[in-house]
Amino acid sequence: MKENYYKILGVAENASQDEIKKAYRKLALKYHPDRNRNNPEAEEKFKQITEAYEVLSDPKKRAQYDAMRRGAFAGGFTSGAAGGGPFGAGATSFSFSDLGGFADIFEQLFRERSTGRRGAGFSSFDFEEPGTAGNDIEAEITIPFEVAVRGGKQTITFMKTDRCPNCGGSGAQPGTRVATCAQCGGRGTVTISQGAFGVTRLCSGCGGRGTVITTPCVVCRGTGFSSRPKTLTVKIPAGVKDGQIIRLAGEGQPGVNGGPAGDLLLRVNVQPHPLFRRDGDNIIVEKEIDCATAVLGGQVTVPTLDGEVKLKIPPGTQSGTVFRLRGRGAHRRGSPAGDLHVIVKVLTPKNLTEKQKEAFRAFAREMGWKV
Ligand SMILES: [Zn+2]
Ligand SMILES: [Zn+2]
Repeated sequence: MKENYYKILGVAENASQDEIKKAYRKLALKYHPDRNRNNPEAEEKFKQITEAYEVLSDPKKRAQYDAMRRGAFAGGFTSGAAGGGPFGAGATSFSFSDLGGFADIFEQLFRERSTGRRGAGFSSFDFEEPGTAGNDIEAEITIPFEVAVRGGKQTITFMKTDRCPNCGGSGAQPGTRVATCAQCGGRGTVTISQGAFGVTRLCSGCGGRGTVITTPCVVCRGTGFSSRPKTLTVKIPAGVKDGQIIRLAGEGQPGVNGGPAGDLLLRVNVQPHPLFRRDGDNIIVEKEIDCATAVLGGQVTVPTLDGEVKLKIPPGTQSGTVFRLRGRGAHRRGSPAGDLHVIVKVLTPKNLTEKQKEAFRAFAREMGWKV
C-alpha cells in the first residue's frame, strides 16, 4: 500500500526541497539498516523513507505524484462476479488498495528505480539493474463464511496493468515516427563514473527504451501500459482467516525490461455468518434451550455447516456451558481440524399466565425457595 509520502517524511505538502532533504537525512540516519541490524521494521521504514524521498526530491516526479493525489487516479470499484465452487453463486466484491489503483502511475514513477541489492546501504537506490520486477497488486477478496471454513473457488476482478493493446507497449501512436534517444544514443542506459565505480542507470531521456516518441499513443498517452480489468478464479484454501493474505505469484504488474511480474496480494474479508463465529479453527454457535431441558436433560438439534446434528443435554446444565463437537470446525491443511463449540443459553420463561405462575410458585415452595 502506498502511503502518503509527505506523512512518511513528516513534512508539509508545500515543503521546500531543503526541508524535504533535511527531513529525509534525519529519518534515514535513524532507520538506516547499518544502525538497525536484524530489525525488519526499521528496514521497512527505511525503504518507505527512501521511496518517499526519491519521489518528493525530484520536482518532476513530485508534480506527477501531487497530480495523482489530487484524484486523477483515485477510485476503486466493486463488481458482482459469479462465484464458482460448491457453495453456489456467491457475489464477490472487492476494492482496490491505493497501490492497485495507482499502479500504472507508479510504474512510470519507478521505471528508473532499482529494486536490486536490498539494504545494501545508503547509495543502493542509485544502483540500477536491468530487469526490474513488476509491482505487486493489492486487492481485497470477500468470501462467504462457509468458503473460508471449507475452501472453494471465488472469482475476482481487479485492475491490471499490461502492455497497451494499441501501441503494443511502445508508447508511440501506431504509424508515427519513433526517434533514437539522443541522450543514450539508443542504448537505453547511461554509465556515470562515481570514483572507482561505473554506475549504469536507465536513461532518463527515454526511460530505457532507447527511443523517444514523437506522437504519443492516444490510448496510453505514451506510457506503453494500460490498465484493464482482469478476472481470475482464485482457489481459497480451507480454513482461511479474516485478514489473511493470499499471494498469487506472477499475477501482479508486469516487470520492466524483462524483469519478473509482481504478485497479486489478496486480503481476505470473511463475511460474517448469522449463526456462526470463528475462533481460530474452532467454530462457535449459540444454542438456546428451555429451562426444563436444562433442568431435566434432553436432546436438542444444533446447526453445523454440514446440517443439523443432535446434542445431548445432561440434567442440570447451566447457562453458558460449552459443548465441544470434535472435528466440526475448520480443516486447515497440515493442522488438526477445529471443533464446533456450542454455547448453551438457558431461556428464562417470560410473560407467564396466572396458571403458569402458580405452577412455578408451587415448584419454588417444593424447592424451599422464598417467593
Ligand atoms: Zn499505447
Ligand atoms: Zn535514452
